[in-house]
Amino acid sequence: MAKMICTCGTKLSNHEVPNDIELVVYTDREWEKICDCDSIQPWMIPLPKYDVWRCPICKSIYVYEGDNETPVMIYRLEK
Ligand SMILES: [Zn+2]
Repeated sequence: MAKMICTCGTKLSNHEVPNDIELVVYTDREWEKICDCDSIQPWMIPLPKYDVWRCPICKSIYVYEGDNETPVMIYRLEK
């Protein structure tokens, strides 16, 4: 995933590093496993299972898995 258009019309891309679009999300269990060693270095942290993008305008969240360009989950703000 490099860019997409949110349903609100906002163009999202992760070309900027760092950016405010991509969220780095681990479950507590995954994070526990990652930190379960004496010293953790940033390069030792594996990529998260899901690629999570959030639209900065409408706050919709798109969850991608692997190289699939269709999101496996989409969340929209209720309030
Ligand atoms: Zn949006």
